[in-house]
Amino acid sequence: MCILVVEDEAKLARFIQRGLETEGYRVELAPDGLIGEKRARSEEFDLILLDILLPKKDGFEVLKSIRKAGVRTPVLMLTARGETQDVVFGLDSGADDYLTKPFVFEELLARIRSLLRRGRQNQTVLKVGNLRLDTVKHKATRNGTIIDLTAREYAMLECLMRNHPKLVTRQQLSKEIWGFDFDPGTNIVDVYVNHLRKKIDHGFEKKLLHTQRGQGYYISDDEAKPRKSK
Ligand code: CA
Repeated sequence: MCILVVEDEAKLARFIQRGLETEGYRVELAPDGLIGEKRARSEEFDLILLDILLPKKDGFEVLKSIRKAGVRTPVLMLTARGETQDVVFGLDSGADDYLTKPFVFEELLARIRSLLRRGRQNQTVLKVGNLRLDTVKHKATRNGTIIDLTAREYAMLECLMRNHPKLVTRQQLSKEIWGFDFDPGTNIVDVYVNHLRKKIDHGFEKKLLHTQRGQGYYISDDEAKPRKSK
């Protein structure tokens, strides 16, 4: 998960960066509107934190031009206290949410989590590393090569990727894929996961489908432990 933080107050930007990195997000900083816009248009982020008062180009202008350029990344705007007009204007310009400065870090985290969740539910193409899942065409590729999946393997992969990088328990998977509201008590989930793992990881040095012993599975392109659902 990579977040672009467009914020000119260096101290605040670093504070946000440190906090988000502690939570397992990758963070890129942009100190003014022009750099922010350039990065937002040329790189892929999962979310953009956008300040309004910025040197060179203000947050509203940045937002308008990236939306016009087809960038659909969720945007959380940072506004100064009491500027409700800003909020209305920001949401009209294509922001997904806003947060008033100064804010409590936990509040920022909660907003980010909710936007990422919402963003993922609407996303039609899911990506983890070089693994790509097109949920409209029901097509999975890794490094550009099509992976042939059965319907259940596909459903399993979609479930894991929508929850990425969080852990999905065996119970969640059996409910999601087979509709069992209980632990079926068989190793059916593990069997399917193993099939899926062969298809997506075989022949690649970097493994994406990981097992958390006794708990479940998660998809991730780094070795870090999965983040627990909150
Ligand atoms: Ca500012």
